[in-house]
Amino acid sequence: MRSLYELQQLDLYLEVLRQTLNKLDPGDHIKAEIQRQRAVLEQIKSEYDALHAEAVDQELQLRMIDEKLHEAEQELYSGRITNPKELAALQKDILLIKQRRSEMDVRVLEMWEKMETLRQRINESELRMNEIEQRYEAYQVEYHQRKAALETEIQFHEQQREELARQIDPEALQRYELLRQRLGGIAVALVVNKACDCCHTVLTPYLLKQLEHETELITCENCARLLYWKELDPPRNE
Ligand SMILES: [Zn+2]
Repeated sequence: MRSLYELQQLDLYLEVLRQTLNKLDPGDHIKAEIQRQRAVLEQIKSEYDALHAEAVDQELQLRMIDEKLHEAEQELYSGRITNPKELAALQKDILLIKQRRSEMDVRVLEMWEKMETLRQRINESELRMNEIEQRYEAYQVEYHQRKAALETEIQFHEQQREELARQIDPEALQRYELLRQRLGGIAVALVVNKACDCCHTVLTPYLLKQLEHETELITCENCARLLYWKELDPPRNE
C-alpha cells in the first residue's frame, strides 16, 4: 500500500509539473507588443513620407514662382515697358507673386517643422521597438531555460515512477490506475483519525481491523478509494 501511496504522490507531483509546463508563457504577450509597436512605427513613417513628398513638391513650385518673379522683375527694370498702365499692371503682378511666395514659404516651413517632430517620433518609436525586442529575446532565453528544467524534472520523475510501478503487483497497479481515472486523480486515501481523509467518512471498526491485518487492498465504503494507514506502516530502514 505504501508503494501505491508513493506512486500517487509522484503522479500528483508530475501532474503539477506538466501543468506548469503547459502554462509556461512562450512570450506571446511581448510578441503582440512588438507587433503593436511596429504598426505605430509604420504609421508614423508613412505620415512622414507623405509629408516629405508634399514638401518636395512645394519646394519645386517655389522655385518656379521665383523664376516667374525674376522674369517679371527683369521685364520691369528693362525699360521696355513705358506705358504707365502696363507698368502698373506689371507691378501689381509682381506684388501678387510675392504675396503668394511668402504664403507658400510659411507653409513649407510649417511642413519642415512637422517633419522634424515626426522624425523625433520615429526615433523614439524605434528606440522603444529595440527595447521591447531585447526584452523579448531575454524572455525567450529565460523561457527556454525554464522549459528545459521542467522537462528534465518531468523526465526524472517519470523514470522514478516507472521504477516504482515495476515493483508493484500488476493487479494492484491496474486497480490504482482505474480508480485514479475515475476519482479525479486520487485513488489512495490516507486514514486519519480513523476516517478516510478524502471523503471524511469515519471508518467502521470492522474496516479498521481489516486494515490492521492488511492482506488485500481495502477500500473506503463511501468513496471507494484505496485506504492507506500510514501509522500502521513501520518506517523503512534505509
Ligand atoms: Zn472515502
